[in-house]
Order: sequence, then structure tokens, then C-alpha cells
Amino acid sequence: MPEGRIVKALSGFYYVDDGEKVYQCRARGLFKKKGAKINPLVGDWVVYDAISDTEGFVMEVGERANELVRPPISNVDQAILVFSMVEPAFTAYLLDKFLVHTENAGIDSVIVLSKADKADQSEVEEIVQKYEAVGYTVIPTSTKEERGIDEVREVLRDRISVFAGQSGVGKSSLINRLFPGMSLQTGDISQKLGRGRHTTRHVELIKLEEGGYVADTPGFSSLEFIGIDELQLAEAFRDFAALSSQCKFRGCLHVSEPSCAVQAALEEGSLNPERYEHYKQFREELKEYQRRN
Ligand code: GDP
Ligand code: ZN
Repeated sequence: MPEGRIVKALSGFYYVDDGEKVYQCRARGLFKKKGAKINPLVGDWVVYDAISDTEGFVMEVGERANELVRPPISNVDQAILVFSMVEPAFTAYLLDKFLVHTENAGIDSVIVLSKADKADQSEVEEIVQKYEAVGYTVIPTSTKEERGIDEVREVLRDRISVFAGQSGVGKSSLINRLFPGMSLQTGDISQKLGRGRHTTRHVELIKLEEGGYVADTPGFSSLEFIGIDELQLAEAFRDFAALSSQCKFRGCLHVSEPSCAVQAALEEGSLNPERYEHYKQFREELKEYQRRN
């Protein structure tokens, strides 16, 4: 039976892209995975049974590499984290928080520094170096000066990507420049605050000519530490995780444990102390979140 990717889910139908055309499918009941019942999700790789040129049934849902809740989507390869240099001003605290969530979800991140035309270039370069040292690809962009657009287009190729970032950073402008005519639904943190709790957000994967898909709804609209524990928080810092095998204790949280490679690296100056400050701050926020829930 043929296989394809669910690119849209609406009113009980799943739209399966076989690479050439899209089939409108119904699901054959619910699917059982490890005893639990699951519903197909946008992003799922499925086996389907075509009953005509345009219609079919989803028969089987493939193993998921990862799964996001808001928006509900699976198998995302990467988040494009858009952070503007100005308006709103760049904040490493928020970027590090987004990175905790992407790492925890098992999704790679590419950092886009938007509105690079409006910033001091030495500041742009400083942020690029800081986060490349952590292990991320960083792309300064400007839609006004046509900078970095081709690089972003290149990282999107053949992958499933979701854009994320605060309202006003320039996600829509960037997407429009990358793919004229394609639009991004709003779903930003600041806009979410006034929303009803029961708003269901539909997400659709837009197929790119170059190969790959982009979700039409921004990801990571909630940055609460839901389902994250202390150790997962520590592991979500790539730069720390790379050192943790050298810590004396397995499961080291790099706080006050003896013979900790992260603390040693900080003292020696080979780790970014600002990241560590944010780590400690997030630990407090996590404790606070756990007290409330
Ligand atoms: P979104 O909320 O993240 O989708 O942000 P928008 O794409 O709506 O952009 C917010 C504002 O930033 C708009 O006024 C844009 O014109 C402006 N903007 C977006 N990209 C750039 C850029 O590269 N340079 C400058 N100077 N302004 C930009
Ligand atoms: Zn340690």
C-alpha cells in the first residue's frame, strides 16, 4: 500500500501527500500504539489505501520522531527561531528559553537574527559567534536589505520546519520574502494571551517547491515548563550536555555537585556564563511552575 505525509487535518479528513498529489482520507478507526489509542496528526507518515484518484483511508500511522502540542504536529525536523535585533530588542534570555523547549521536544533549531539592517554589525556578529559556539546555525537576515534570505531557503530544503518567535520580529515578512504568497497564521505568545482557552488551531504543512514543508502556524506558543523535569532542563542546554559525560556523577545538574565538568568549564571561561545564569533562572522558574501545578 502507498505511503505519504499528512499535510492537513480538517473535519475528520486527513489530507495525505504522496509526493505528487494529495488524497482526502478518512481514518480507519483509531490507531493503537503501545496500548494507547492515537489519532493521526499533521506531519505523520502514514500508510493509506487509495479508493480513487483523490480519496482513501489512512491505514497505519508510522512511528513519530517527535510531537508538538501547540500546534498539534509531528515529525518536525527543525524550528526556525526568529529573533529580531531591534523592535523587539534581542534577548538571550528568551532565546535560551525557546532553545530549552526545542531541545526538549527533540527538534533541531536554526536561529535567524532578523532586522539585521537596523543593528550595529558588531552586535550581530557577537550573537552569531555566541550561539555558533553552543552548536547552532545562526543566520542574520534583513528583508529590507535582502540579506540571508537564500541561506534560510537553503536550510528549509527537504525538511519539515516550523517558525517560532515573538510577535513583531518579522516572521511574516521573512516568509513572504522566501515564498511570495504564502502566509503565516498568527499564533505568537503576546497575541495568545488574550485568547480563549478553547481555540483550536488548525495547522497545515505547506509544501515547498525546493522540497520540504513549512508549518503555516508558528510553533512553541507556550513556553511553560510543562512536562519538563530538572534533568531534562539540564540536558536541554547543548553546551552543558556535551560536557556532562565528564561530570563525576551521572545525572549531574551542574549546580553544586563535586567534579562537575560544566562548573569547571565556567571557571576556566570556556562556557558562556550568561547561558549558565539563564539555566539557574529557569531552574527557579521550573520549581515555581511545579509548585503551582
Ligand atoms: P511577525 O509578527 O513576526 O510576523 O512580524 P512582521 O513580519 O509582521 O514584521 C513586524 C514589523 O517589522 C513590520 O513593520 C515589518 O515591516 C518590520 N520588519 C520585518 N522584517 C524587517 C527587516 O528585515 N528589517 C526591518 N528594518 N524591518 C523589518
Ligand atoms: Zn555537572
